[in-house]
Amino acid sequence: MVSYCRESANCGGVREVDGVREVDGVREVDGIREYAMHELSISLNTVDAVVEHATRQGFKRVTAVTLGIGTLSCIEPQALQTGFEFACRGTMVEGAMLGIDMISARAWCQSCQQSVTLAARGMCCPNCQGYQLVIETGEELMIKHIEVE
Ligand SMILES: [Zn+2]
Repeated sequence: MVSYCRESANCGGVREVDGVREVDGVREVDGIREYAMHELSISLNTVDAVVEHATRQGFKRVTAVTLGIGTLSCIEPQALQTGFEFACRGTMVEGAMLGIDMISARAWCQSCQQSVTLAARGMCCPNCQGYQLVIETGEELMIKHIEVE
C-alpha cells in the first residue's frame, strides 16, 4: 500500500504531489530524488528510544523491534523500514528485525454520536457519510515490543 500525507503542514518533509513515486523510501518527484526525511527522523528518534530503554535494562543487543503506527500517522511503512535500517547502523539495534503493526484509526462522529473506524485520512463517517469527526486513535507511533539479548 502506498499512501501520502494530505496534511503536509503536520508532518515535515512529507508532501503529496501528483505523479510522486516512491522506491525503497526514496521519493522521486519530477525525476528528482528526495529522501523521506520524515520517516528518517522518526527512525532516528525510535532507535534512540530503543537503545536508551535496552541500555537501562542492562542488555547488550536488540534483535527485534515491533512498532505500532496509526493509519493516519502520515508514516509510510516502506520508508520507515528503510529509515530504520539506516538509523540502526553502528548501534546495538543494528540487524534487528523490524515489525510494523498498523493501528486502525477511530474517530468520534458528532452526527451519529458513536465511535467509528476510519480506513484513511480524509474519509467520511462510514455510517452517515458526514465529516464531523474527532480523531481518537490512528495518529500514533509507538514502540510495542522489543526483543533483546
Ligand atoms: Zn456518522
